[in-house]
Amino acid sequence: MKKISIAIDGYSSTGKSTMAKVLARRLGYGYIDTGAMYRAVTLYALRHGFINAGAIDENALLSALDDINITFAASQDGHNEAYLNGENVEGLIRGMEVSDNVSAVAAVGGVRRHLVKLQQAMGHEGGVVMDGRDIGTVVLPHAELKVFVTASAEVRAQRRFDELRDKGDTDVTFEQVLANVTERDRIDTTRAESPLVRADDALLLDNSEMTRDEQNEWLLNAAMRAING
Ligand code: C5P
Repeated sequence: MKKISIAIDGYSSTGKSTMAKVLARRLGYGYIDTGAMYRAVTLYALRHGFINAGAIDENALLSALDDINITFAASQDGHNEAYLNGENVEGLIRGMEVSDNVSAVAAVGGVRRHLVKLQQAMGHEGGVVMDGRDIGTVVLPHAELKVFVTASAEVRAQRRFDELRDKGDTDVTFEQVLANVTERDRIDTTRAESPLVRADDALLLDNSEMTRDEQNEWLLNAAMRAING
């Protein structure tokens, strides 16, 4: 069967990654979570004091990019986990401190160009599902299937809030999560460098009212059509 490239973009907390992972498993494709890469760079920047009260020392961050090695490896239960210079940072990069700063880091042009190059190298052979914000427009503009996922901000914040609670984060409030989702949308859609925008040839998936199973079926059908077409 032909191996294609699949680009899944969209707003924060739409469940893109979960959907992309299931699709990759069903097709026997590789899966690349580009958001985790921006999050790992953000964690590195926070740890090295490059971000103070939301202000980024861009020169310091850009000179450190070559020292930031991001890899992925499967955990024992088969989950794809992110590593920063050999350390498993999967839990740390999903917390609120990284979430509150990641969109500002992702708006730095030099950071984007660096990570886009790495992502293109990871995806150049096809047989890959990649999710992010600029995959169909910048990273893999020739992907055979592009999907743009959206849902209302309240639905997305509720999903993220439930996820954080499930992981034991009881300090965070729904209002904080909603504010974070809305603020990330604002930064992602208004940044100068490759803003979040639906590619002309991307299929639109609004999953506000869909169950996970319905989304997974929708995506698999779209992928089979792209593979066979
Ligand atoms: O997908 P996730 O929510 O983990 O991504 C975290 C942040 O990284 C996004 O809010 C966005 O600012 C940034 N990002 C990006 N381009 C990508 C993937 C993520 O700008 N391809």
